[in-house]
Amino acid sequence: MPKYIFVSGGVSSSLGKGISAASLGRLLESRGRSVTMLKCDPYINVDPGTMNPYQHGEVFVTDDGAETDLDFGHYERFLDVDMRRINNITTGQIYASVIAKERRGDYLGDTVQVIPHITDAIKRQFRAVAKGHDVVIIEIGGTVGDIESLPFLEAARQMKQDVGEENVIYVHVTLVPYLRSSNEIKTKPTQHSVGKLREIGIDPDLIICRCEQPISREIRDKISLFCSVPRKAVIDAPDVASIYEVPALFQKQGVDSLILRRLAIRSSRKDLNQWHKWISRLKSPSGQRATIAVAGKYTDLRDAYKSLQEAIIHAGVHNGAKMDIRYVDVDRADLVQELKKSDGIIIPGGFGDRGVEAKIGVARFERRTKTPFLGICLGMQCAAIEIARNLAKLKNANSTEFDRGTPHPVISMLEGQRSVTQKGGSMRLGAYQCRILAGSQARSIYRRPQTTERHRHRYEFNNRYKQALEKAGLKVVGVEPAQNLVEIVEFQPHPWFIAVQFHPEFKSRPNRPHPLFRAFVGACLRNSRRRRRATGASGSPQHCEVGRRARK
Ligand code: GLN
Repeated sequence: MPKYIFVSGGVSSSLGKGISAASLGRLLESRGRSVTMLKCDPYINVDPGTMNPYQHGEVFVTDDGAETDLDFGHYERFLDVDMRRINNITTGQIYASVIAKERRGDYLGDTVQVIPHITDAIKRQFRAVAKGHDVVIIEIGGTVGDIESLPFLEAARQMKQDVGEENVIYVHVTLVPYLRSSNEIKTKPTQHSVGKLREIGIDPDLIICRCEQPISREIRDKISLFCSVPRKAVIDAPDVASIYEVPALFQKQGVDSLILRRLAIRSSRKDLNQWHKWISRLKSPSGQRATIAVAGKYTDLRDAYKSLQEAIIHAGVHNGAKMDIRYVDVDRADLVQELKKSDGIIIPGGFGDRGVEAKIGVARFERRTKTPFLGICLGMQCAAIEIARNLAKLKNANSTEFDRGTPHPVISMLEGQRSVTQKGGSMRLGAYQCRILAGSQARSIYRRPQTTERHRHRYEFNNRYKQALEKAGLKVVGVEPAQNLVEIVEFQPHPWFIAVQFHPEFKSRPNRPHPLFRAFVGACLRNSRRRRRATGASGSPQHCEVGRRARK
């Protein structure tokens, strides 16, 4: 019988509930259990694919093409398992399925209601996900007290009834604020939030207290007394420098043993050593460092590039280096000055035409200055447009996403895609095969002839222009075999210029950094050393030939 751990949140959003849930998962895995995750999102959107990343952070894509929120990235990175579509439910999906059943007449004339029809549909998914695993950790999005999350909490409450007390526990992640004016830590919001949870019929077994600083024994006692949980089950979760420290923080407080005991799971294994080792490498880099500019649009909200950031960090740790990531808004007036400060440039994925011309300019800058470059999805498309315009002399070349009437659609939609009107329907989503050409730089980086990578885009490299662009130096070195779609290009006159149609960042894990990021970071570190040697530690880099002196 699988065990169910429900994780709810109280007082405020953005407490890092996803990280807490993922950390519990990591800990239980370290005790030799097979763990999976499920996230319940209370919004009515069917998936976050159509949501603005300004509001919601990045859209994380799974192998099977589900568009999920960024917590799935944490789950995959902490547990080192691949999530699937089934691991996410939204209110929109549940209602859509119940309404479809009602229209088919499956309810045989019943009045269809939140309880039991919606809650039954939710519980069915809880069970389906749990199948084949020892433990499923179910994160309930939103904050206790929100109208939207009620059906999920109600389903969570019923599960104890359905599968028995010894198979379910409830974890509540709450805010314990520090008030500067009175120099006090306050427990009242937590008491209220636990009270709210009790009104719904859920007694928390474990309370994770998010606080700016560690909480004292007194505060712990107070929360234990007022919220009726044992003192050991009040977990201190102060802010930490890196999210990867959280599993160890929980382990130090015996959270794993507490959960195992409560769920009557026997385990003698305890193995978080690799994780500890990795953290110490993260915290004490060898002294090397490099600056990477991410030239994008959503630079105000770092969460929009969460997986990208993590992939750079993983690759940095692998190289024993500290990475300084600068998010550079391509619309700023001093863009070139900003780019000159960096040892490597990434143009990340993106949608819509705002900032695209500037990104094409970034690709040009970087081609001419020979700064290591990694183009991702839109970044690859911008690089192809740039080389088409400036080297292949295809005047006004563009993507049909930005200029429908362009005379040279080097990036365009495939035939057949155009007739799809449902948003999201025309996207290439999830994992696709990629064959990598022998002799290419990508092949030496991947060290194998074939790989799979995840996608989320509508437009493709137009094979009609392959020959012209290859003549200009941009070689197609990775291809999706079934439809002959271009996946990886390299600008071969350049020491490190690789652009990809997919999103490699989704597949990077702390212990297994993605090969492209690993190699890119390596190139940035070499560039950083070269620049230092050439200029002294702080001077301006000499290799940055821009403007009139540059030849092309
Ligand atoms: N907007 C581009 C497309 O749809 C790129 C998408 C992306 O970068 N994820 O093809």
